[in-house]
Amino acid sequence: MRLVILGLIGAGKGTQAKICAEQHNLLHLSTGDMLREAVAAGTDLGNQANEYMTSGQLVPDELVIDMLLERIGQPDAEGGFILDGFPRTVGQAEALETALTGRALDIDTVPFIRVPEEMLLERIAKRAEIEGRADDTPEVAQRRLREQSEGIEGVASFYASRGKLQDVDGVGSVEEVNARLEAALAG
Ligand code: AMP
Repeated sequence: MRLVILGLIGAGKGTQAKICAEQHNLLHLSTGDMLREAVAAGTDLGNQANEYMTSGQLVPDELVIDMLLERIGQPDAEGGFILDGFPRTVGQAEALETALTGRALDIDTVPFIRVPEEMLLERIAKRAEIEGRADDTPEVAQRRLREQSEGIEGVASFYASRGKLQDVDGVGSVEEVNARLEAALAG
């Protein structure tokens, strides 16, 4: 099974992606984690991505697309994967589709964990406090949320037009949302 999970910052997308990966034995690929690792390792990609990430901007498509396509071409991705944080733009979605089609593969389902914006801003503020994430100051978080909202709706429409989008109500406990996600995958 190959999945793309969508959700704005604070929607619980990463948590749900991890659980879902365990439940279905899928490789969990978070482009945010991959980019943070590249920054920490001081690779060329990391150095290029760093300035965008610290200012809450998207890393340019060509950098992220190359990184992700290379990763899903590796043997451990053959059993299926769940993409968390990618695609963030329609350009990324198209590049992914083209790459998969070239290998006679496809994305199966795209669950979209939906949470109202005011609840997201509350969650982001709380998380920034607990984790002390430098890229989660209220100003940066709000800007990321605004940027992400625009991009994510474009990506959601892309997958809706292919009949793959499944809206999942993201309000509730981790277990409740997981149960809804599983129902969406089964349906
Ligand atoms: P995340 O952990 O998913 O919130 O990602 C952290 C940061 O990494 C984002 O704010 C972006 O700067 C960058 N990033 C992660 N995934 C992507 C992507 N698919 N396209 C562009 N930038 C990304």
